[in-house]
Amino acid sequence: MSMSHTPVPLCDINAQYRALKPEIDAAIARVVTSGMAINGPDVAAFEKEAAAYCGAKYAVGCASGTDALLLALHALDIGPGDEVILPTFTFFATMGSVCRTGATPVFADIDPETYNIDPAEIAKRITPRTKAIMPVHLFGQCADMDAITNLAKTHDLHIIEDAAQSFGAEYRGVRCGTLGVVNCFSFYPSKNLGTLGDAGMVTTESADIYKKLLALRNHGSEVKYYHKMMGWNARIDTLQAAMLRVKLPHVDGWLEGRRQAAARYDRLIEDSGLSGFLRRPVSRPECTHTFNQYVVRASGGHRDALVKHLKDSGIGCEIYYPLPLHLQECIAHLGYKVGDYPISETAARTVLAFPMFAEITEEQQRRVIDTCASFVPQQLRKAA
Ligand SMILES: *Cc1c(COP(=O)(O)O)cnc(C)c1O
Repeated sequence: MSMSHTPVPLCDINAQYRALKPEIDAAIARVVTSGMAINGPDVAAFEKEAAAYCGAKYAVGCASGTDALLLALHALDIGPGDEVILPTFTFFATMGSVCRTGATPVFADIDPETYNIDPAEIAKRITPRTKAIMPVHLFGQCADMDAITNLAKTHDLHIIEDAAQSFGAEYRGVRCGTLGVVNCFSFYPSKNLGTLGDAGMVTTESADIYKKLLALRNHGSEVKYYHKMMGWNARIDTLQAAMLRVKLPHVDGWLEGRRQAAARYDRLIEDSGLSGFLRRPVSRPECTHTFNQYVVRASGGHRDALVKHLKDSGIGCEIYYPLPLHLQECIAHLGYKVGDYPISETAARTVLAFPMFAEITEEQQRRVIDTCASFVPQQLRKAA
């Protein structure tokens, strides 16, 4: 197989392990020999270090990003009869967590350039039942937080950041994790800070919410076997916390690697004359994009054929997300229909994500773009 046909993975989960093997192995051995698999000292230490990184007062580790969202909603007493406004173009967990509290998800359409929730769309959907806005910082870039914060202040609503894809991302120089009242992260392996399993985190500036989060993740108990509130087991494994502590000091370097890779994709697309066919991601000047995903739009209804061509050629690519949440079968009873959120529906038909990880090489990226170029008919390129 020649170099030009070597597959390019969507994400290289093992690259960071290879780079940090001695330290990660030592951290694992330390937890295993300590016998403190649950709530060992690495949990509190990680929470302290991760809170400091985000500039947040408190952080609570938990079992997944999904549990982080559920903890945040429960900490704010959101439940039946309440409405939570969220984008329809996001990962399922943003909505799933709202539904699981018994609250009703109310969808808003997105900005067609950043794919983030559109504040004007939020404003249209605020009712007396609205309790919270849940902006998602999609693909590694913060949502339009100035406008969202203004809406939240005017209407007395909570902001819950879904920052699962955006650990380390900044908005006007401030890291996410402090932009809402309770804020949620995922450490799923492919996220900006990924571990070797499931884990998540919630941050807050409020001592009261912090106390509640600690109880909620441990069956609602502050004193063992006495349960003040209804919680569940949402704890983070000590093993995950220990590995995350090894990785955290490297995250800024990895984010820089992602940004450089994004800039290389931008240039390669431009240089191959593909910029009319593939619309590149847009970074807002007030945001520091972290490129958890590098998402392009394919024009002219060619997306699915391009994805097939890339996959057939050994190039990892993925569609985030092929079906907006308002059209998911599990909420058919809410009565949404095709056409309700046109910008999200168009995005779902046109976007695709290229291979993206901090360690991706220019050679690998060139193969991705060359493979796109070999798909695109000559006329299309000229039309650009
Ligand atoms: C990954 C993700 C989640 C869920 O995180 P898990 O750790 O997989 O449970 C939630 N919201 C968004 C936007 C995500 O990308």
